[in-house]
Amino acid sequence: AVAAAVLLALSAAACESSDDSSSSGSSSDNAKIALLLPESQTTRYEQFDKPLFEAKVKSLCSDCTVVYNNANQQTDTQQQQAEAALNDGAKVLVLDPVDGEAAASIVTTAAAKKVPVISYDRLVTKADVDYYISFDNEKVGALQATSLVEKLKKDGKTSGNIVEINGSPTDNNAKLFNKGAESVLKTSGFTSQPSTAYFTPEWKPENAQTFMDGQISKLGKTGFVGVYAANDGTAGGAIAAMKAAGVSPIPPVTGQDAELAAIQRIVAGDQYMTIYKAIKPEAEKAAEIAVALAQGKEVTGADAKVNNGKKDVPSVLLTPVPVTKENIKTTVVADNFYTVAQICTAD
Ligand code: BGC
Repeated sequence: AVAAAVLLALSAAACESSDDSSSSGSSSDNAKIALLLPESQTTRYEQFDKPLFEAKVKSLCSDCTVVYNNANQQTDTQQQQAEAALNDGAKVLVLDPVDGEAAASIVTTAAAKKVPVISYDRLVTKADVDYYISFDNEKVGALQATSLVEKLKKDGKTSGNIVEINGSPTDNNAKLFNKGAESVLKTSGFTSQPSTAYFTPEWKPENAQTFMDGQISKLGKTGFVGVYAANDGTAGGAIAAMKAAGVSPIPPVTGQDAELAAIQRIVAGDQYMTIYKAIKPEAEKAAEIAVALAQGKEVTGADAKVNNGKKDVPSVLLTPVPVTKENIKTTVVADNFYTVAQICTAD
């Protein structure tokens, strides 16, 4: 009878502890963490974000598994990938949304399962997200525009058209980059064309190229003094359009991400600047928060607050750095983002 009582007590304890962990989501054993990235045409995601995130998760929690999905710009695909990850028992979602507003439904689905969501790089708006980790994205836009305007002034220009190529209309970051850029451009003496700025569907370089093509036809090959492009992909599209149309010299063009191709264009003089965002601290901080949440531990360091239309989201916002030919060595090279050999090897 004593043995039976002990057995009963033991199994009750076992049941209790397993109930506990599933309802609080705090089990650390074999915890699955879903990493949901938005696209793969921009090199950062599969070259930096994914491997750096995975490595940090492994180093913090050898039992954790990262379930990785890339939505390739498709909002529906991302929704399905998130649902599949949740059905598969993911304990935390790290979500970089294709469409910041539509992704609110992913957060609702996760919340119903008590699965926390970290909004990664792009903010999920109007949703009860748990954490947000990104860069100061308004500052990204302001730095791009300031760098462009200063370069134009240095070259002796004080007026003229700036063609403005923004990011995807469904990406909250694109709105912030635009807001930061506009804050500088509107008092700069330069004019942005067209008056309603262009937002590039899906951030596709080919869409930026087509838009730039149209601007060259409309304004003429010498009808603009500079190009504000929100990232290196769109900058590449704009530069390709100008080259194909015989625009020479190519006026200053901005960018973002410090993609290897963009750094090489900067060295070659085809692109004026880019913005270096150190992905390592971004991916690693996201991994730290994800592992803490998966293990039911306290999250530290998310001291900033960003309102997403629903709540003040505890956030970490990192600092972007402008890069021109002059400081490639002291930024991306010094930080081991690329070696000199990588930059200087023509493909
Ligand atoms: C990211 C950029 C990236 C762009 C296109 C933005 O949300 O912050 O780094 O170039 O999306 O994927």
